[in-house]
Amino acid sequence: MNASRARWRLIAPRMMLAGLMVSASVGQVHAQTQATAPPSAPAPAAPAPAAQQPGAAAQPESGQWLSRTVDGIMGTRIFVEIWADDVAAGDAAIDAVMDEMRHIDDTMSTYKPTSEVSRVNALAATQPVRISRELFGLLESALQYSRITEGAFDITYASVGYMYDFRQRKRPTEQQIAAALPAVNYRHVLLDRKNSSVRFSQPGVRIDLGGIAKGFAVDQGIAVLKARGYSHALVNAGGDSRVIGDRRGRPWIVGIRHPDHPDQIITRIPLVDEAFSTSGDYERYFDEDGVRYHHIIDPHTGHSASKVRSATVIAPTATRTDGLSKTAFVLGPDEALRIYNRLDDVDAVLVAPDGRILYSRGLTPGDTPEAGTSPEGAPGAGTPGVGTPAQAH
Ligand code: ADP
Ligand code: MG
Repeated sequence: MNASRARWRLIAPRMMLAGLMVSASVGQVHAQTQATAPPSAPAPAAPAPAAQQPGAAAQPESGQWLSRTVDGIMGTRIFVEIWADDVAAGDAAIDAVMDEMRHIDDTMSTYKPTSEVSRVNALAATQPVRISRELFGLLESALQYSRITEGAFDITYASVGYMYDFRQRKRPTEQQIAAALPAVNYRHVLLDRKNSSVRFSQPGVRIDLGGIAKGFAVDQGIAVLKARGYSHALVNAGGDSRVIGDRRGRPWIVGIRHPDHPDQIITRIPLVDEAFSTSGDYERYFDEDGVRYHHIIDPHTGHSASKVRSATVIAPTATRTDGLSKTAFVLGPDEALRIYNRLDDVDAVLVAPDGRILYSRGLTPGDTPEAGTSPEGAPGAGTPGVGTPAQAH
């Protein structure tokens, strides 16, 4: 559990009145900030945590929020917002973030035949392939998240995953899945740090970084902004976001959408200096004969992983939140929460198939003096860690 996060949670219900919402609506990806209440809404009554004071009064008055949305990088929409003293320098900083995102797309995309990852997929089953330090580092991180999540996160899911096309409503047959499944195992990816190379232990192995590259790109974008001295900023790519600092005296507020109703927010979480990722079964999918086929694949079965409807993970970096947000789909809420609760810097909000909302220990209602209220102040959420969208709304 993260102590400062828990303190923020206490003031969350009041913050909603005066706060700003970052809609973490994944898929359509519109992480705009937008006022959730009229400007006259009262300021929160509860004190902010010491680390976040002195608040707005002590901030320099000059400056403004600059933001930009760009579509089509990494197959998604990128949104950047910064507090900038100087508009020209701020625009240049946002340009630099977008350039960094394009660079990562060019390196990591499996849709681009010329990318480093495509070259790895073409060659690594037959020979070691030398790769950039950047890709090597991300592959190391990916394997680390496979170990942390007990195999739920696995970039070799692509050995089966490449046969799905959710836009074309295409999926592999059972025979195709059975034939390809032995190639799905992160242990098939062999890294040689000294030579900065990768090889696969057997034919048929493919990797895809779609489950971690956006988080990594967000972290790189944040690094670009930090290097230029920005201390209030948000970078979002698809379901993955990270903020620097607060929103000038108030936390950034993340709204988690209802899995079936894009316009409904089931709960909100205030964030300062953190990252969050939301994965959902409503992002890329098609329904057939009452079954939802969607883009998160269970490495053990090669089928879509459906043990939750959505999972939001909060942690210091977006690589970490992205690497952890698929886990609950594969392992189910109980196993996933066991893993999340073991990690001191991680919290999570899960929406179960029956609509219940489950919270990690650091966000669990009933764990604090405001026992019995959810982060939204929901009635009826007295069972620790459990609420329902209907109640929370
Ligand atoms: P977004 O693309 O909006 O960030 P997610 O973070 O939920 O969405 O990532 C989903 C993507 O993760 C899929 O499109 C696919 O590329 C990849 N993926 C699917 N299943 C797995 C898995 N078991 N382990 C790792 N990555 C996966
Ligand atoms: Mg993601």
